[in-house]
Amino acid sequence: MKVSLGSLLPAVDRGWKSMYAACSLATCRNTLLMRSVQSRVGINVGQAWYCSMDCFAAAARTMFTSLCGGTVLEMPHVPRRSIGLVLLAKGTLTDEQLRSALAQSKLRGEELEETLIRLGLASERQLTAARAAQWGYPVLGQDRVGQPVQADVPSILLQTCTAAPLHYSMTAKRFLLGFVYRVEHSLLNALEQMTECRAEPCFITPTEYVEQMERLTAVPDCEEVVFENPQTPAQMAKTAAGFAVEIGAREARFAQCREYVWSRLAGKRRKIDVLFRVKITAEASLRG
Ligand SMILES: [Zn+2]
Repeated sequence: MKVSLGSLLPAVDRGWKSMYAACSLATCRNTLLMRSVQSRVGINVGQAWYCSMDCFAAAARTMFTSLCGGTVLEMPHVPRRSIGLVLLAKGTLTDEQLRSALAQSKLRGEELEETLIRLGLASERQLTAARAAQWGYPVLGQDRVGQPVQADVPSILLQTCTAAPLHYSMTAKRFLLGFVYRVEHSLLNALEQMTECRAEPCFITPTEYVEQMERLTAVPDCEEVVFENPQTPAQMAKTAAGFAVEIGAREARFAQCREYVWSRLAGKRRKIDVLFRVKITAEASLRG
């Protein structure tokens, strides 16, 4: 049956507008009527809403383009004091011990921390305390050690940052992460974007890291896919849109952490983390 839209539209137009939010893609070519027929669901990305997979893919491309550029903007963070000076200030080492350890580490071409452990001049825990002081963050409290955690953080990011989830409370909206070597702010920021929880850092020993990673359990119905070969933003968008179709995604989030761009697609029953390795610039690689 053919209906004259001209006569029909003014009356129902208002109703449709409240039922179907306007597509956030400026170049969206779908009319309100087409949208109501084509897709009632669409995909939410933060405050934005996209009416179709095509519109989502176009928006994702823009998102990936800006995230890939983001690695350049982040400045490397180097602690003011060296680990040796912190240990000296704490009284863990004497002047002479530090001097000889520095000479040995130079001679052997190993990290100072390694030399200190090998010579028995400092323990793992003392080094962790020194790193925490260096960065101005706490050491993991002993009451928090050894708690099993279920967390949906891509394992590739945890490994890359040598970080372990220690406590995760959806109700308190709080996420506690333990770092071994350095606090990776890009991971904290990415987690806050993905989970809407406050992500807090602390320091843990390498042994605690290994033990905690063994206690970590995956969240059911949540997958992780990693693409290690560099892709263009357009290719990433196409890949992400493909997964979005596969799982019937209703919501998507995007973040960047170290050399990865992370997109999280969530459908009614399944969730998938799609990560793309991006080319690192000289400046960004300084952080490593
Ligand atoms: Zn649209």
